[in-house]
Amino acid sequence: MIVARFALAWTVFAVWTIAVFTALEARWPRVRAPIRWRVIAVGAGLLFVDAAVTRLLTMRAPTATWTDALLAWLVAELLLYWVHRAMHGVPWLWRFHRLHHRSDPLAWSHAWHIHPVDAALFATAVTTASLIVGASLPIAAALVVGRRAWSVLLHANVIWPASMLDHIIATPPFHHRHHREDLRTANFAGTLPIIDRVFGTWDRSIDSPSRSHHLKRTM
Ligand SMILES: [Zn+2]
Ligand SMILES: [Zn+2]
Repeated sequence: MIVARFALAWTVFAVWTIAVFTALEARWPRVRAPIRWRVIAVGAGLLFVDAAVTRLLTMRAPTATWTDALLAWLVAELLLYWVHRAMHGVPWLWRFHRLHHRSDPLAWSHAWHIHPVDAALFATAVTTASLIVGASLPIAAALVVGRRAWSVLLHANVIWPASMLDHIIATPPFHHRHHREDLRTANFAGTLPIIDRVFGTWDRSIDSPSRSHHLKRTM
């Protein structure tokens, strides 16, 4: 029963995301690019592994409150920021994270290209944050799923003008700057840019899509 529910939820999420974001990128592309079905298929497989790892790490009965969820999110964002920085700064971690920074033009499907080791590290960080603040593990699962859904938008190859919103929450321009290989690596936060501001890695320069290839790993 649990396996069937998990498979159904994964299928609904995957099909909805593929349909909506493939259509958005075709209608309002930031950079004209072909639809890469093979990349999407590989990404869907990786997402399945990611979701299964998360589900296994967070299996418990729910006892959630909104305060628990808010606190868990804030602590998780802080931990995830440092985990992400470590992935760029520690060579053996970079071996896994570089899958996400593949050099073809950025598209929503990059959000699903996460190595299983990265997925396990992200899920562990979120679970740890939930345990630190005393939140239930299903909150951790909800946070992982919510961040992964937001991540699809962050990577989308769609026109998204820079705005004040970039100061408050991570947006496509904010995260596209993270994927710029020709500049110092910046903008590690997944949802809260203020964390990058506090630790000196925030850069709100307007992204220039034509220069976004071949990541140079820097800290
Ligand atoms: Zn990265
Ligand atoms: Zn990314």
